[in-house]
Amino acid sequence: MKIKAAVLNRMGVKPPYAQSKPLAIEEVDLDPPGPGEVLIKIAAAGLCHSDLSVINGDRPRPTPMVLGHEAAGVVEQLGPGVDDLEKGDHVIMVFVPGCGHCAPCAEGRPALCEPGR
Ligand SMILES: [Zn+2]
Ligand SMILES: [Zn+2]
Repeated sequence: MKIKAAVLNRMGVKPPYAQSKPLAIEEVDLDPPGPGEVLIKIAAAGLCHSDLSVINGDRPRPTPMVLGHEAAGVVEQLGPGVDDLEKGDHVIMVFVPGCGHCAPCAEGRPALCEPGR
């Protein structure tokens, strides 16, 4: 299927990014969800420090690359083997998954999840 995404085509362009515009909203191909994956209709997405570190080259990654790994949306399609979500569920995506059981998760700090690292 075709989707719109914020695509980084080249790292290390000079700031200010409002002028150099390192990201472009482009139409890209997206495969259907594979085993253990879900298709989510994104309602909102953030731009975090990890994304900025890729844009400025501090965390080099191959380009072109679709940025934005922290978002909220609605499940539209389930891949094979997904049995803990349903179509229509509202979900959030985070960089580090929280297990919900370790000490940091129990303290309400899932971004520091020990097995998630
Ligand atoms: Zn992040
Ligand atoms: Zn945890």
